[in-house]
Amino acid sequence: MAGLEDLYKEIILDHYRNPRNRGELETPPAVKAEGFNPLCGDEIVVFIDVDDSGTIADVAIGGQGCSISQSSASMMSAAIKGKTTDEARDLIESFKGLMSIHEKGLDGAAAEGDKPDLSMGDLSALRGVVKFPVRIKCAVLSWNTLAQALDDARTN
Ligand code: ZN
Repeated sequence: MAGLEDLYKEIILDHYRNPRNRGELETPPAVKAEGFNPLCGDEIVVFIDVDDSGTIADVAIGGQGCSISQSSASMMSAAIKGKTTDEARDLIESFKGLMSIHEKGLDGAAAEGDKPDLSMGDLSALRGVVKFPVRIKCAVLSWNTLAQALDDARTN
């Protein structure tokens, strides 16, 4: 399905060139978490502002690195903004599941019936990453950093 792959590539490049929610938030009230992927040199800084009702009222992303790490962070920021912290945690699990399903697929287990999950929106575009296992760390970096930020937000 070359057509779909081209579309995915375009979505990733769009997020890389026009990153969503790029910037910083004032801490406090926002919390800040930093992630680093030494394999690739990717850095991600995640700022989230969680309101009293547990909703992620605002999110900002900083850092630098490869197109996969930066576009994944951009997609993540768009996906979690306005969501509750519980919903954001669910999304982290879903995204990591998306990546690990394919890791298993690479070991030879058939990934049949494995269709794009449209509920993941642009995030589905990152499925192509799993053909290059080393890049999975790039794709999940921002999500691990978000998990860290959510932990910090809870203890505040
Ligand atoms: Zn990378």
